[in-house]
Amino acid sequence: MSQSKSSSDASSLSVAADSATHQAMINAGLHLKDSNLSEEVFFQAVEHCPVAISITDLKANILYANRSFTQVTGYADSEVVGKNESILSNHTTPRIVYQALWGRLAQQKPWTGMLVNRRKDGQLYLAELTVAPVINELGETVYFLGMHRDGTEVHQLQQRVLNQKLMMESMINSVPAAMVLLDADEKIVMQNQGFERLAQDFAAGGNSAFLGMLTRQLEGHFERLKGERSHFNSKEITMDRGDGRPRHFSCFGTTIEIAQESPDAFFEQDISHYMLLMINDISDFRRHQEEMHLNTLKALMAEENLVQGMRETVNGAIHQLQGPVNLIAAAVSTLKRRAARGDKDDLVLSAAEEALEAGQAALDNLIDSLPPPLDESKQSININQIIREVLSLCTDQLLCQGITINWKPSLHLPSLAGQERRLRSMFKQLVDNAIEAMSAREIRQRDLHIVTSATKELLEIEIADTGPGIPEQDIFRVFQPFYSTKTTPSGFRGMGLSMVQEVVADHLGSVFIDTDYKQGCRIIVQLPLTNV
Ligand code: FAD
Repeated sequence: MSQSKSSSDASSLSVAADSATHQAMINAGLHLKDSNLSEEVFFQAVEHCPVAISITDLKANILYANRSFTQVTGYADSEVVGKNESILSNHTTPRIVYQALWGRLAQQKPWTGMLVNRRKDGQLYLAELTVAPVINELGETVYFLGMHRDGTEVHQLQQRVLNQKLMMESMINSVPAAMVLLDADEKIVMQNQGFERLAQDFAAGGNSAFLGMLTRQLEGHFERLKGERSHFNSKEITMDRGDGRPRHFSCFGTTIEIAQESPDAFFEQDISHYMLLMINDISDFRRHQEEMHLNTLKALMAEENLVQGMRETVNGAIHQLQGPVNLIAAAVSTLKRRAARGDKDDLVLSAAEEALEAGQAALDNLIDSLPPPLDESKQSININQIIREVLSLCTDQLLCQGITINWKPSLHLPSLAGQERRLRSMFKQLVDNAIEAMSAREIRQRDLHIVTSATKELLEIEIADTGPGIPEQDIFRVFQPFYSTKTTPSGFRGMGLSMVQEVVADHLGSVFIDTDYKQGCRIIVQLPLTNV
């Protein structure tokens, strides 16, 4: 390369740049004028600059090319000087790109962009090129300056990152599970289509609202993910939209460490904890399990009904026998008093005493023959689940009577410590009562409303029907044993609500009839959460 190529008067030329750098260059120019640096220094600086630099005439014919130009393109300067820059073109760069390049130069402005170049050995590379006009003191463009480097690797890396992102996105979207990635502030960073679908199904408020529901259900498991390396697996949750088809999910969560991208994290790595949640829909599996469970329940409840029926019958018999025995006992004590006064009637007294003894023996026999009540220990119970089971058990009757169910389970119902079988029998009794009440021919509208809700202290279960209701004077009596509002007592032993009250009382709760409800009968059961 000849020294003469640097002989142009550099101090009288300026290279256009964007306005910010332009000012900097003017400043640099002033400094240049002040400094005693020779032109030779500037030439050598350009010559050894690690960027491929070329200077061309106004038709892009190359006048000068530095050492890096040779390294990047494979052409020695002697091979390119006098040739057009198009010698580097692979002729696959769209024309519009060149038009933009030349358009900017025509406006005396720099242009930066990517071109597909071909090296002397035929190898293609992506030239990350900046061209700028060199303008003289009269404001005329006299040369063009070209600076480029091989941007192939950077582009390949960028493309690889992009491709991997696309591959990951399509992989994540094709996973049958819902996935969501959260930052340390619990903001959604990424979610797959499965998550979006679930959010649409469950929350009108969109992804964030659904996320809130999810994290609330995951409780401590989710909390533990925050700020530390942790994970949880197979945590099962149930979400209910009240359509009678609760969805069951198995959840997985893990923390992911992500390095910060900010410049100050370049040398001192700053790690943030992100949280990945994966939600698998296991509803079909659960439904199958539930079907099997229901069949077992049906068998169990049939047995329980039998025991309960026997208890009621024997209790009824005891109840009925108790009256005459009491009368005989009263007669015996009267006769004894008379005998004490000398007014003897030994035969009658001994006959009465025998009758009393026989009556008492019969009563004792009956009491002994009472089947024992269910002995059941307390366990953690999901009341929604129990009511759902009861509704499933009653499906046939409900359908048969054309009853519409309005089932509104609380989405966040805490577990209760209780006797599962007894509670199930109790709710079944209440639902049976409601069905029975609405089965009368004159009842046209047949709706069964069941709502569960919770405060910090108690669970409230509301069961309302659109039957004839209970007359106000009876609302306390209906809980008494053997009391029935039915006009034909056969078959109605009047023990249902008394059993309900007994079960509720054993759970330290209360049950009452809402007197403000006029469309039928509304029974409210309140069960304290701390009843152990
Ligand atoms: P061309 O016929 O040369 O031009 C294609 C289009 O460019 C035309 O339609 C026209 O609109 C526009 N054009 C061409 N010359 C001029 C001009 N003098 N004035 C206004 N518009 C014009 N190209 C590369 O492929 N690789 C490079 O590394 C590269 N480096 C360059 C460095 C500098 C400093 C300059 C000034 C240009 C550079 N070029 C480079 C552009 C190059 O000169 C060609 O324009 C380009 O290669 C297209 O060549 P072509 O033979 O396919 O088409």
